[in-house]
This record gives sequence, C-alpha cells and structure tokens, in this order.
Amino acid sequence: MSKREQIWMHQMARAEDTELIDSFEEFYRSYYRNEIGELAQRYPSEGKSLYVDWQDLYRFDPDMADDFRNKPQQLREYAEEALRLYDLPVDVSLGQAHVRLYGLPDPTDIREIRADHRGMLIAVQGIVRKATDVRPKITTAAFECQRCGTLTRIPQEGGEFQEPHECQGCERQGPFHINYDQSEFIDAQKLRIQESPEGLRGGETPQNIDVNIEDDITGEVTPGDHVRATGVLKLEQQGNDREKSAMFDVYMEGLSIEIEDEEFEEMDITEADKKEIVELSNEPEIYEKIEGAIAPSIYGYEVEKRAMAFQLFAGVTKHLPDESRTRGDIHVLLIGDPGTGKSQLLQYIDNIAPRSVFTSGKGASSAGLTAAAVRDDFGEGQQWTLEAGALVLADRGIAAVDELDKMRSEDQSAMHQALEQQSISISKAGINATLKSRCALLGAANPTYGRFDQYEPIGEQIDLEPPLISRFDLIFTVTDQPDESRDAELAEHILQTNYAGELNTHRTETTTSNYTREEVESVTDEVAPTIEPGLLRKYVAYAKRNCYPTMTEDAKAAIQDFYVNLRSQGAGDDAPVPVTARKLEALVRLAEASARVRLSDTVDEADARRAIDIAEYCLKDIGMDPETGELDADVVETGTSKSQRDRIKSIKSLISQIEEEYDEGAPVDVVIERAEEEAMDASKAEHEIDKLKQKGEVYEPQTDHLRTT
Ligand code: ADP
Ligand code: MG
Repeated sequence: MSKREQIWMHQMARAEDTELIDSFEEFYRSYYRNEIGELAQRYPSEGKSLYVDWQDLYRFDPDMADDFRNKPQQLREYAEEALRLYDLPVDVSLGQAHVRLYGLPDPTDIREIRADHRGMLIAVQGIVRKATDVRPKITTAAFECQRCGTLTRIPQEGGEFQEPHECQGCERQGPFHINYDQSEFIDAQKLRIQESPEGLRGGETPQNIDVNIEDDITGEVTPGDHVRATGVLKLEQQGNDREKSAMFDVYMEGLSIEIEDEEFEEMDITEADKKEIVELSNEPEIYEKIEGAIAPSIYGYEVEKRAMAFQLFAGVTKHLPDESRTRGDIHVLLIGDPGTGKSQLLQYIDNIAPRSVFTSGKGASSAGLTAAAVRDDFGEGQQWTLEAGALVLADRGIAAVDELDKMRSEDQSAMHQALEQQSISISKAGINATLKSRCALLGAANPTYGRFDQYEPIGEQIDLEPPLISRFDLIFTVTDQPDESRDAELAEHILQTNYAGELNTHRTETTTSNYTREEVESVTDEVAPTIEPGLLRKYVAYAKRNCYPTMTEDAKAAIQDFYVNLRSQGAGDDAPVPVTARKLEALVRLAEASARVRLSDTVDEADARRAIDIAEYCLKDIGMDPETGELDADVVETGTSKSQRDRIKSIKSLISQIEEEYDEGAPVDVVIERAEEEAMDASKAEHEIDKLKQKGEVYEPQTDHLRTT
C-alpha cells in the first residue's frame, strides 16, 4: 500500500468513526434525553452509567445494534465518546461515564458458549455461585523514578502487572516506586455464574462462567441471586508463565448485571400442558396417582412418597402485615438403615422437582450446604470469595441432601437459621452478607451406629443436634427388619423392575430381539410412573406459581382438635409434653400443599385430614417414647425422652448418695445394684452412667468409682 493510500484509508476510517459517534448522539437525543439529564445530575457520586436497552438501539438502527453485538469493544468506545460530546443541560462533564448495554434478546446457554463467541457481546442467565469482595484494581500505574523523580505512567490492561523498561526522564532502569496519588484505580469484582437448576435435566452437572465487573456495578449482587449478565466474551490462555498451553479458558467482561425477577422460572407451560394439568388435578384418584409417580421403582414407602409429593408442591409462604414471614417450605428427614432406598428416593425427587440441587452432606464444594467465605485461587491474590452452598443454590426449590449426618460442623450451626428463617448470614473477613435459602430440605441420614436400635430415642441415634432435628416438619424412620411377606413382595418388585429394564434395554440395543414391543410394554407398564416426569414437573411448577389456598373453618377445626387432643395427653403432672407448636405449623403447611395438588383455592377438611394422617404416622415413628409407648415431644426436640430424663436424674442422685458412703467415690457395681433395686434395668443404668461421664457430670477419681461434679 502506498503512503497516499494509507492516508486515505486512515481518513476513511476517521470519517466512519465520526459518523458512528454522530449516530450515537442522535440516538441519545431521540431515546435517552431524560436519562442523560438525570445522569448528569447524579454524576459521579450517585451514578456513573447510562443504561442502554439493546432493543432501543435496534429500533433506532438495526445495523448499529448488530454491530454492537459483533464488535462491542469498538462500539462501546464510540457510544461513550458520544456521551462525552453530548450537549448537557447542566455544567458537568461525563468524562468517566460508562455506557452499559442490557436487554440483549435470546441469552446464550452457558453450556453453549463456543470459541465463535469470542469478542462478541452475549448475555447469560444463571445464579451467582461465587463473588469476591470488591477490591481496587490499578488501571494506570504512575512509576516514580527514585533517581530523578520523573513519573512514568503505564496503563495496566490484562491480568499481568506491567512495569516500565526505563524511566522516561533519565532513561535508567529505576529503581521505581508507585505513586498512588498519581495512579488510577477502579473497583473490581469477579463473579461466577452457574446455570440455573431449573434449566437442567435431572442429575446434570451445572456449568459456569466467570464474569469480571468494574466500577459502579460492583458489590451489587450476592451469591444466590438469579441474574442476567451482559458482556463481552474473552479468552484467557491456560497454563503459567513458563509453560503456556494451547488451551484457553473463557470469561466475560461484564457490561451489566441485572437481578432477575424473583418469580423467574424458565419452564415453559403451554396452553395444552395447562389443560392436561387441570384435568389431572380434577381426577378423584389424583393423590394416589402422584404417589405412584414418585420413584415407582422403589417399593413401599406410600406415606413417605405422599409427604415428598407435598414437599414438592409446598405450603404457602405467609407474609404478615408486620413484615414477618412464615415459611411454606416443608422440610423432610429420612433416617434409616443402610440399603433401604433412601438415596434412590432423593435422587428421584431431584429428577422431578422443577428446581432442585442434589448433594451429599460431605459436600463436593468448599461452600458445603450453607455458605462460606474462602480465600482460594478464584480471586486475585488474597481476595476473599463468598460462595453459595447447596441450600442457597436451591433457593425456591428443593435441596436433596444425602448423608446429612456427615455434614461439616461449620454447616451445623448455620443450618438452624437456614431452615427456619430461610436465610444465611455470614460475617467474616470484612464480608457481611445475608444469603437467601428459601428452599425445602429433603435430607437422608444413617443412624449413628449404622443401624437403628428401636429401643433408643431417635435423637440419640443420629449425629444431628436436637434443635436442628426439630426444624424438620416430618421425620420418617426407616428400619430394615426381616418380614417374610414384605420381603417377598419387595423382592418381586425389585426383580420385576430389573426385568422390565432388561427387556427394554434388550429391545433397544439388539436389532434381532425376540421380544415384541407389546411384551416389553406389558412388563414396563407395571413399573412405569403414573404421571410422566416431565408433566409432573410442570404440574408442580404451575401449582406453585398459581395456587395460594386459604384455610376453611372446617380445616382449621380439624387441625386444632387434633393438636389439642395430643396436647391433652401431656396435661397430667408428670406426663411428657406430647407435641409442640412447631408441629402445628407443619400441619398447616402439609394441608396447604394438599390443597395445591387439587389446584384448589381453599384448604378443605379433607386436606387437613391428609396432613394429620401423615403427621400421626411420623409421630408414632419418632415422637414415641420407646419405653412407655407415649407420645413425647422431647424425644424429638431434645433427644432425650421423659423416661430417660427421669432415669438420668435418679442415677445422678443415687451416685451422690453413695459417694457420701465411700471415700474413693461411689463404686459402679454398688450404683448399679441400687438402681436395680429401684426397678431399673442394669444395662440401661450402665448406659446412663456412660452418658453422664461423657457429659462431664460425673467423673472417675479411680477406676470403677464415680463422683458427681
Ligand atoms: P440407602 O441410601 O438407604 O442406603 P440406596 O438408596 O442406596 O439405600 O438403596 C440400595 C439399593 O437397594 C438400591 O439399588 C435400591 O434400588 C434398592 N432398594 C432398597 N430398598 C428398596 C425398595 N423398597 N424398593 C426397591 N428397591 C430398593
Ligand atoms: Mg445412601
């Protein structure tokens, strides 16, 4: 190219620049006059950005809008230049103002991001999983020469810190120090956005993308927020300085982050779906049908399945005039012997819930079940990162947590708040945040010693703190005891399920199958779900979105009678307290969920009955004092039954009596002897002594001798 040609090209380019800048100015005049006026008033302390809806730009000039998508960096410079040149009503300069685009149609699925998107403007939707704290980042570093005092300014772009080769004054290689007053800084934050759980088909691992944001949009979102981020897709080489890799990572330079509407649901429910749902909800056998749609391959567990169905539909979240809130979510716990199908049930719920997270108490991520502030390699250097755990990611859905008893101790304490207030507060290393955890928990746990001992209170047999246990609306215990007729049916069911699976696989995998389709279907029909999972998912989403039933007088009366009756069992002087008010709220939630199944506006007496049936079944399982057969709330709420508490008291008083008689403390065999005289079982007495020792209420001054503290 000749010199003249070069100059001509350059001038052409300049002309194009000016033309585009003019177009932006014209666009502002016709679409954003008021917004710019307001920005000028607020700038810079209360506002630094002009938010431009891509759709407006498209209406103004489709080509320009498309250009913005394909060459966002260049176009953004023009747009910002135009803003600086804009005739303002007040005397300010919008020197550092940003133009932030949003409203891009058709967001890109995070898992669909490809190399072709490089350099383009895209929008992604998802949930914020991690966010670093906001830290200043240097954009222009002023290096002051220690020899001559000259300032050498080096713009800092990209990840690595750039230092001057030589001083601009004396041309020597420093030494330099950075003059902070003369340098420029900007607030910076890094977010990790993960695909929303409802976009995933059961069991898929969610994908994520990191988004870097700067200046006025930092510090606005919290992990757990559902957002739509618009930005430019960038590549970053993997590997380190010495060994560069041919592989690249992608990330986004975020232009704008919008917090999505809380009611955001990705699921599409068509008119045809709606018709089918309404028809289903009117069927007289709908409750049985829904039970049959939950884990049909798992035999038995009718009540548990119904409870899980109600958990899917959920009770109504209540907002009171004093701004307090009562959760509608139903927390369910399955405790039981190994190999009884608990994990399978959880996985199934994860499959059909419209929004759910499946995890194990041990936790795959550093955030565990609740949330954590960690210092890892996500942020630059020493930055702290706040990461959302399973209960936050499952916000407005179900968290299915297997092996809940193995959860980490950090989670234990945060769990109480997470389950009752449905939020998690974290305050560590200068990070103070409250994350939302409005989800229902479906937990599974094994007894402490692997298997259940039916004669011990539940509270003693799981490694969960009693206050946490009491947060569950329903607790089911699952024991695996040989029972000939049940075992035969279970075996038949499992064999049948497997056979159906075999036939199905056989027919699809081999071309010359001897089995006809009719044969396969007749077998598979028996173990097929009564409602197809895709439809059930929509049914649940539809009911939760549209149905907010209220109690009828009859329903209220039924629940009240049940409650008062139970309580009256505890009216005597020495009788245990049978149930606490917590159970009452659980009944209300269950009854509401039952009404939602019918898409009913009212909670009828029949709904209350269904709730009572489930609650009664659970109470018999767990709230019963195994020694007396009486219902006892303390078994659940404190982990110790009344008869046990009485026993502990009498053992302690025995020890203190006997220790008076012996110099070296009360001999264990004497204590047990006296206990037996008081009609206490020797093994139980030993057990209580061990407990007292563990708790430090009794100690051994000498082997087999006891003293109270
Ligand atoms: P858990 O989590 O309770 O230890 P799993 O869910 O891992 O048990 O179940 C172990 C296996 O036993 C699974 O393959 C499951 O399908 C089977 N199983 C256990 N109970 C049943 C049941 N009631 N009906 C059908 N299969 C069952
Ligand atoms: Mg398991």
